[in-house]
Amino acid sequence: MTAEATQPTSADTASTPTPAAAPAGREKTAIPKNPGRRDLGMKATLLFPNKDIVEQYYVPLIYTACRTCYSELAPDDIFDRATDGRVEIAKMQKLISGVIESGHGSTIEHVVFTFGISGVSRTLSHQLVRHRAGVAFDQQSQRYVTFKGASTMLPASIEDADPLLRGRYEEQIERSMGLYGELVGAGIPGEDARFVFPNATRTNLVMTTNLRALIHMSGLRLCTMAQWEIRRLFQLIRHEIFQVSPFLGSFLAPKCVPLGYCDEMGNRDQHCPIRPHKDNVLAAWAEKSKAAKAAGRELPVR
Ligand SMILES: Cc1cc2nc3c(=O)[nH]c(=O)nc-3n(C[C@H](O)[C@H](O)[C@H](O)COP(=O)(O)OP(=O)(O)OC[C@H]3O[C@@H](n4cnc5c(N)ncnc54)[C@H](O)[C@@H]3O)c2cc1C
Repeated sequence: MTAEATQPTSADTASTPTPAAAPAGREKTAIPKNPGRRDLGMKATLLFPNKDIVEQYYVPLIYTACRTCYSELAPDDIFDRATDGRVEIAKMQKLISGVIESGHGSTIEHVVFTFGISGVSRTLSHQLVRHRAGVAFDQQSQRYVTFKGASTMLPASIEDADPLLRGRYEEQIERSMGLYGELVGAGIPGEDARFVFPNATRTNLVMTTNLRALIHMSGLRLCTMAQWEIRRLFQLIRHEIFQVSPFLGSFLAPKCVPLGYCDEMGNRDQHCPIRPHKDNVLAAWAEKSKAAKAAGRELPVR
């Protein structure tokens, strides 16, 4: 089970409603340039659990956590019933979906996923390890590993840039890497020589996350406002989860999908059309409310 960075990169598979009109006078910008389908040389592999474990235990485990809140039965009885087929999968999934939608997040902290992540840049890893709650990381050390040939990530915008400019970028990277080799060769410890490494340097990590944290991180990082590389990583991660459970994978979506609207300041012009911006939703509501008042009726609040 390995997702490589050549998977389709569409923002999400959810249906896309027609956005409300952008405020007059604002110029539409484009969705931030992303590398499309090109191979970035990064990988995300679900190391644990495998499909059998997910199918046999993960949904029953979450169901047991949810059901314990509302049942006289002991958790072990609920778990036995869930795993031996006495509770239908559809029934378990319905309860779990409802509980997730209601935001009762502790119930989905009982299951974890471990990913091997390789070939990502230090730019990405710096963003990734900012997530604190419900997630653990171990990262390849630049102190303990003395690199013979550290490789780097080439952003698509630079790959496609004026060849002279791209050449200068590549020279700069090569010079940094060359100097690293010289410093190490001269007896400078790797932990000091690494100071010349650029942000583009690739790295490897192991990440273990519970489902709640994974949904939260995916909400932020699958958003089209996220940086292209980390967005691609979460597309690969989502692909991996879909391989073992389309049901659990369906909860990994840009945050606007469960919210129903976009809350990103940078998308007030609605250049990203996945969901309407909240300013437009509120403006549409205010207009509807005003029209209803003028007609002598109140809008029903559902
Ligand atoms: C598009 C984008 C742009 C960004 N730009 C920048 C930037 O320019 N500069 C920068 O520094 N960072 C930036 N970040 C990082 C961002 O500020 C967060 O640090 C990062 O996304 C981690 O998310 P989180 O805070 O939800 O943390 P997580 O650790 O994933 O926490 C999950 C949730 O748990 C709760 N939680 C966790 N810890 C605490 C706590 N100590 N107290 C109370 N509640 C807690 C919060 O509800 C939190 O949302 C950016 C992130 C994104 C997605």
